[in-house]
Amino acid sequence: MSSVPVAVVTGSNKGVGLAIVRALCKQFPGDVYLTSRDAGRGQAAVAQLQQEGLRPFFHQLDIDDLQSIRALRDFLKEKYGGINVLVNNAGIAFKVNDTTPFAVQAEVTLKTNFFGTRNVCTELLPLMKPYGRVVNVSSMVSSSALGRCSQELQQKFRSDTITEEELVQLMTKFVEDTKKNVHEKEGWPNTAYGVSKIGVTVLSRIHARLLNEQRKGDHILLNACCPGWVRTDMAGPKATKSPDEGAETPVYLALLPSSADAPHGQFVSDKTVKPW
Ligand code: NAP
Repeated sequence: MSSVPVAVVTGSNKGVGLAIVRALCKQFPGDVYLTSRDAGRGQAAVAQLQQEGLRPFFHQLDIDDLQSIRALRDFLKEKYGGINVLVNNAGIAFKVNDTTPFAVQAEVTLKTNFFGTRNVCTELLPLMKPYGRVVNVSSMVSSSALGRCSQELQQKFRSDTITEEELVQLMTKFVEDTKKNVHEKEGWPNTAYGVSKIGVTVLSRIHARLLNEQRKGDHILLNACCPGWVRTDMAGPKATKSPDEGAETPVYLALLPSSADAPHGQFVSDKTVKPW
């Protein structure tokens, strides 16, 4: 088993994820794994970074596929005995002019952004080593969408006692409500991406709390963040930040020094803790 520290970035064959791997290759003192659901796209991204003189490793990971997540888990457990840095970056968004029915957009978006990310956490968080860092890439859209939820939902999503099961029930209810076209009457905002990212931010708050309760002495720090508005296939060419600039806040959180005890359980944008 290798004693070298290891960092893993989900959805990192392009966009913000690729830029996070680039920065970690330069700054993280260990092995950095670029992961992709498609091995061909992943290997091409590895080759691109190799052209830049960097040496990322590759492992397949489709966060929609439990078998794929478990294969990565077993590989990391076997080869490294755990994980030092986990960046949950993989995500999807329908374009604003996409004509796919809203209920389908809701189901598909929540499946990857919330349920896929949660499944990765379920399988990989138990592997986090002492002083580990977990970064969940959410979005400022989670905050704006929260503001457009009913008071009742806002209270639940801001609660310091909400459980993971309750959050899963709420995310499932959103998808069901869109199918019945009652989501707005039930207090949801009209954004599947926004609700999925509410899920990611609240899941981060819950997991940080569980780490406090169950692994206090391990000094693991876990946060959600927004990379900003970044020029990627998701956000398009008009966005204000380059992918490397978008990687700055996630990488800052991934590399918080071992002396740090904060931020933890926060939503961070531009390296600054934002109110939730
Ligand atoms: P992107 O260029 O579309 O990249 C998304 C990445 O996620 C791709 O590598 C994609 O792989 C991967 N992915 C999607 N579904 C996956 C799955 N089931 N399993 C594994 N990987 C999967 O988007 P981006 O702008 O870099 O976004 C990265 C993260 O930042 C996302 O979580 C996004 O919501 C968040 N974000 C972005 C912005 C922005 O302005 N760009 C703002 C706020 C938050 P494929 O190539 O195979 O599709």
